[in-house]
Amino acid sequence: MRVKCEICGNNVDTGAGNYIFANGIHQHKKCPHKSKLSPEEIKDRKELTDAIQWVSIKWDASLNWPLITKQIKVLLEKGYNYQDQLYALKWLVNKDDKFWGYGRVEKFIEHAMHYKEQENKLKETQQKQVSNVEEKHTGDLRDKIFQSSKPELFI
Ligand SMILES: [Zn+2]
Repeated sequence: MRVKCEICGNNVDTGAGNYIFANGIHQHKKCPHKSKLSPEEIKDRKELTDAIQWVSIKWDASLNWPLITKQIKVLLEKGYNYQDQLYALKWLVNKDDKFWGYGRVEKFIEHAMHYKEQENKLKETQQKQVSNVEEKHTGDLRDKIFQSSKPELFI
């Protein structure tokens, strides 16, 4: 698979020997490693691992961190960032009312992202409706003030 090296911007073949995936970054082996995650990514990663820890304690699941780290990395490589993964984890845990292991996140993240998209669309629609309602109320109030000779608001 050909991807863009995120350091130099040229294409790199993921099957080639000069390719590495390091710290969530596709790059040539020779290009300087971006060794540090951005503060944002560190925060997001911590939030995700905290959540994994929390759900495993709550549902008494054993944690295999080397495996989970690998699973997180695979998902990053597929383009799901930490926030996407956290969303999928929460979505699954709420849906299942149990934590069945991170493998389920790996398996169902696409479903979760689909759900998230729907949810965002719904939120947008609701926001539009709310602002329509607000607009209507403001309009009503304006009408009241201007139509009444003695606006009750000012009595
Ligand atoms: Zn490069």
